[in-house]
Formats: sequence, structure tokens, C-alpha cells
Amino acid sequence: MSKKTARVAVIGAGVSGLTARRILRSAGAAVDTFDKGRGPGGRISRRREGEYQFDHGTQYFTATSAEFTALVKRWQEQSVVVPWRPRIGTLQDGRWTEKHGGPERYVGVPAMNEPARALAGEVDGKINYQCRIESLQHAPQSGWTLGDDSGVQHEGYDWVVISTPPAQVLPMLKLPSPVRPILGGAVIDPCWAVMAVFDPALEIEWDAAFVQKGPLSWAARNGSKPGRPDHDAWVLHATAEWSRRFVENDKEWVAEQLVAAFFDALARQPQSPSWRAAHRWRYARPRTQLPDGYWWDPAVGLGLCGDWCIGGRVESAFSSARLLCEQIIARISA
Ligand SMILES: Cc1cc2nc3c(=O)[nH]c(=O)nc-3n(C[C@H](O)[C@H](O)[C@H](O)COP(=O)(O)OP(=O)(O)OC[C@H]3O[C@@H](n4cnc5c(N)ncnc54)[C@H](O)[C@@H]3O)c2cc1C
Repeated sequence: MSKKTARVAVIGAGVSGLTARRILRSAGAAVDTFDKGRGPGGRISRRREGEYQFDHGTQYFTATSAEFTALVKRWQEQSVVVPWRPRIGTLQDGRWTEKHGGPERYVGVPAMNEPARALAGEVDGKINYQCRIESLQHAPQSGWTLGDDSGVQHEGYDWVVISTPPAQVLPMLKLPSPVRPILGGAVIDPCWAVMAVFDPALEIEWDAAFVQKGPLSWAARNGSKPGRPDHDAWVLHATAEWSRRFVENDKEWVAEQLVAAFFDALARQPQSPSWRAAHRWRYARPRTQLPDGYWWDPAVGLGLCGDWCIGGRVESAFSSARLLCEQIIARISA
């Protein structure tokens, strides 16, 4: 008798969810994916505003493990990722100091979300976008049922893989589970991002800076990345501390404060941007992680992965999904 194909629901189409989808699909599972966003990528994303474009989440990524390095190489062969070799340094009290060496930094082209689009496109199996999962129920006979925000029930899954930040898991988990205290103990900092365009362009010789003092942690000229439009578009990120403190503040106010902080850090007279906007990443960078880099409950067929389980970077999201899927595949093919 032939073995029943395992049905898996993956919640989240960021790097971790898309990685899980690809690995499980390659192992023969039938995989349906759900994401509340309009497209793949999650925090590796691009914001488009008319003719302007910004990588307002992830700025670049690095690769250390053999597995992730192989994926980055494939992305390069697909022309969706290229190295970014910026003039990068630290900025303090108006003084920029170049940082030499360091790992190769990679970016998506023409925008940061492109490798996610490539990952999503290379596997069959439906991705349901603009579909927020609001409830998860489990019954021993019928398996998992996912309820979405339009009232549709998606039924009959043997496994559910949740790849969202932990605070977004708790509201959908409508059953007692040993994972609840783990989710409750996970800490993810917010990050306020400001996108600003300057015309005329700022006279700045460098491309990116780790800001050492004040409300900002990072400033980068988006146009210094390959394949971006030719505007003087900047992305500014606030520190975790500043973002936590002002997480509920008005976007306009945040944009004004962080543009002012940029000129303070440069020790220059402020220049008004011709366009600017703020974006709040409520769950941006994890401060905690899990001992195994993922969590699972094989008794009910529930797995959790994502950057928050293992280290807070694009590579961590990939690694967490890979580690979880190794366990799931061992189960479903046993
Ligand atoms: C401002 C910022 C800067 C960063 N800079 C870097 C950097 O320079 N280098 C680096 O390596 N990393 C950086 N990171 C971290 C990097 O973006 C993450 O580590 C990685 O993208 C996380 O991927 P993930 O799949 O774990 O989670 P996510 O990308 O968050 O994916 C989770 C997905 O779940 C979806 N979702 C959530 N709730 C639901 C629901 N109820 N139903 C359906 N879908 C849902 C979301 O829409 C999202 O698409 C940065 C992050 C931020 C925010």
C-alpha cells in the first residue's frame, strides 16, 4: 500500500517559512502556505513610493554556513542577489571612520525582497497571500484546522509550521500547548525605520554607517546598492532602545525626530528631505533565542521556526527552518 502524502500548512512566507516550504515540498509533502502580507519576504522587504524605492527592513545579509552559502550562490546564479561593497564605517559626533574588511555583504536585486520571490517561485504549492491566520485548532482524528481572517477554515493538515515572530503566534494558538511559556519568554525589539529622499543629493562621501550615539543605529544610502533607482534615498534605523521608548508614537513625529537625529550625527545643518516617511517594525530584532534553534511538538505535529529561535538574521531564519524540517522529515518518512 502506498504511503499517505503528509499535508503541511506553513504560516508565514518570510525566509524561514519559504525555506520550510521548499524543504518539505522536496521531501514529498503537500504544502500550503499562508501569509498576511501582499507578497513573499516578510522582513526582507522593499517599500515602493512612486518612483522611490527603499530596503526599509533588512539592509544586507551575510552567509557563514555551507548550506546558506550554497543558497546565496544559487541566488547569485539566478541574478537575484549580488554582493554589496559599500563604503561602510562608524559615525560619531560628525566623524565617519571607515571599517575595512569584514564579511561579504549581499543584497537582493533590484530590491531586497527578490530572493524571497525566487524562493517562492521555485516550488509548486499554493501561497495564500493577504490571508491572516487567526486560529489554530487540533483534533486527533482530523488533524489541524486553520481559521483565516475572512472566516475560511483550512482543514486536514497533519503538520503546522509557524514561522511568524512569537508574539504573532500566541493570539492564533487556541489550545493549551507547552510552547506558550516559551513564546511568552521570547523578546523581540521593535525598530523604527525612516526613508528619506534628498534633492539636491547630500554631499556625503560614504554609503553606510553604524551610528554610535543618539537615537540612530544605522544610516545607509539606498542608491549605493546595485540596481536601485538613481535618487538620493536614505534609510535610517533607530536604536532598539529609542524604538521601544517611542513605539506607539505618531509616524510623522518619528520621521521628523530621526531626520533631525541624522543631521545631529553628521554634525551638520539640517536639510529638508523632499520626501520622507516612517515605518514601524513592531517585531524587528530578537534578543532571546531557543536552545535548539527551533521548537516542535511531534505528538501533535506542530513546529515553530524563524530568526527569533536562533539569532535574528536572515541566515538564522534559514537555519532555523532547516533544523526544524530535518526533524519533521525524519517523522513523516519513518
Ligand atoms: C529593520 C530591520 C533591519 C534588519 N537588518 C538585517 C540585516 O541587515 N541583516 C540581517 O541578516 N537581518 C536583518 N534583519 C533581520 C531579518 O530581516 C530577519 O532575521 C529575517 O528576515 C526573519 O525572517 P523570518 O522568516 O524568520 O520572519 P519574517 O520575515 O518576519 O516572516 C514572518 C512572516 O509571517 C507573516 N505573518 C505574521 N503573522 C501572520 C499570521 N497571523 N498569518 C499569516 N502570516 C503571518 C508575516 O507577514 C511575515 O511575512 C533586520 C530586520 C529588521 C526589521
